[in-house]
Amino acid sequence: MQPTASHFVNGAYLEDTAGAPIPVIFPANGEQIARVHAATPAVIEAAMASAKAAQAGWAALIGVERGRILRRAADIIRERNRELSDLETLDTGKPIQETLVADATSAADALEYFGGIAASLGGEHMQLGGDWAYTMRVPLGVCVGIGAWNYPTQIAAWKGAPALACGNTMVFKPSEQTPLCALKVAEILVEAGAPPGVFNVIQGAGLVGKALVEDPRTAKVSLTGSAATGKKVYAAAAAQMKHATMELGGKSPLIIFDDADLESAVSAAINANFYSSGQICSNGTRVFVQRGIKDAFLARLLKRTANAIIGDPRDEATNFGPMVSEEQLAITCSYIKKGISEGARLVHGGNRLNQPGAYIEPTIFADVTDDMTIAREEIFGPVMSVLDFDTEEDVLERANATEFGLSGAVFTADLTRAHRVVHAIQAGSCWINQYNLTPVELPFGGMKGSGVGRENSMAAIGHYSQLKTVYVGMSPVEAAF
Ligand code: NDP
Repeated sequence: MQPTASHFVNGAYLEDTAGAPIPVIFPANGEQIARVHAATPAVIEAAMASAKAAQAGWAALIGVERGRILRRAADIIRERNRELSDLETLDTGKPIQETLVADATSAADALEYFGGIAASLGGEHMQLGGDWAYTMRVPLGVCVGIGAWNYPTQIAAWKGAPALACGNTMVFKPSEQTPLCALKVAEILVEAGAPPGVFNVIQGAGLVGKALVEDPRTAKVSLTGSAATGKKVYAAAAAQMKHATMELGGKSPLIIFDDADLESAVSAAINANFYSSGQICSNGTRVFVQRGIKDAFLARLLKRTANAIIGDPRDEATNFGPMVSEEQLAITCSYIKKGISEGARLVHGGNRLNQPGAYIEPTIFADVTDDMTIAREEIFGPVMSVLDFDTEEDVLERANATEFGLSGAVFTADLTRAHRVVHAIQAGSCWINQYNLTPVELPFGGMKGSGVGRENSMAAIGHYSQLKTVYVGMSPVEAAF
């Protein structure tokens, strides 16, 4: 099941043990399950050179041929969903109950969707009197993808599928925390017929990512990561006028009005904070609850959170697994301490489990105020902050008082209020009476400090291609002299 070497370059696995070793830890028990090596300068060069060499030939295929390969890869991924989900669970610690439905399947959706539209990509025709013009949608060239550790299969496909559909090639660097899954995506693309060099995966930490971003052969960078890394990578891309998509963090509001369906609102708050042990960028970690429903909401939330089945993520009954690493667990614990010391009321969880593995209880704070650190900073762990509000005007002002703008949601039975509120939320993805559903048909990405560009949907095509305009003169050229 596991990849057979650290890197996948030019259509085959590649090893170079001279690179710094990166142990791969199963976060549920701390055991090392694999070891990969960071890319050496020679591996980086091989990956960039193969992506560059493959690009013109890949772009020269007609769209229907590129699309067929992507769709074949989607089919293979679906056939191997169980095996890929097992690997995703080992790589990240996320429960198999989740990975069976949210990771390889999401990657397959992206490959199928972009495979389906590859044949339809084109430009426009404009009539200009006797003259006329047309536009062509042309690839950017070699694209670099850099991933976070929370959705390693999905992130590789969300970047790779639109890039390849448009005729680009890609060098992808996964997070060093979760290096295994993207290698399988590369392997499956080749099995589906992708020529060598079209999709390459190399390992390493930030320095490898930096080298890829700065390589003069790189035309575009797409990063999924923290806001701090995003600023560095965006600046490095801008220094060479490269295209960039930045999918960064958030501190998103989930606004629940008195008239909301209580069970749905509680379900949304649970999904928006505890799915994947809270390690989701678009999570609704500021849960604003209108005062009239607050007691009922908290009572139901506590009752249902007590039902979480915390355990071995390989067990299909488990619905709450460990965090990805001890490091991320320590960050989460320090935020919980801060929440307590700044006066938030801890109403559930807050403790590390007394057993091997990076386990922490789902944690809920009530009576959180806007100035508290846990209400301002992205924690990226299972920590929910419940804040009270009275009026729509008040909650909107507070919901938008953040540097981030990734997501937001409203729960209400009032149709006009629902639309009014989501229109006012400054965020790229909003939900009405739902949370965190991100099908490939919809654009996904942030406003404000949460990033630039969009992934998925037709919008991604605009971020992985560029328009060329051709003016066609039909008459003799006149000049002043
Ligand atoms: P990081 O920002 O720490 O890392 C993201 C990736 O960037 C990693 O592969 C990392 O390498 C790499 N990297 C680090 N420094 C540089 C650099 N200078 N140049 C190029 N690459 C670099 O994020 P995390 O991995 O900790 O992921 C969590 C963050 O990702 C959260 O903020 C979360 O909100 C965000 N995220 C956003 C999503 C979105 O779509 N908007 C989705 C998922 C997560 P390495 O870590 O291996 O050293």
